[in-house]
Amino acid sequence: MNHVLKPPMCTAVVSIGVWPMAKVHIDSAKCSGHARCFAAAPGLFDLDDSGYVIGPCVDVPPGAEADAETAVESCPERALTLE
Ligand code: SF4
Repeated sequence: MNHVLKPPMCTAVVSIGVWPMAKVHIDSAKCSGHARCFAAAPGLFDLDDSGYVIGPCVDVPPGAEADAETAVESCPERALTLE
């Protein structure tokens, strides 16, 4: 019997008086390992040894929102969603 391990859910850490950090959600089923997101937003994503982005999500530090948006738009598989 095979068991499928689901990745942990992306959760927002919210502090009172602090706006929650943006996140990029990664649909690993759609990711094809182009690494365009990695090139578009240096330092934001981690890739595995095969060039697939590691999910299920990444935090977007303040000031990196534009890079994150560019990365999302650069993904030809529509595997990334910015929230
Ligand atoms: S650009 Fe899209 S398909 Fe390519 S590694 Fe990034 S998330 Fe995956």
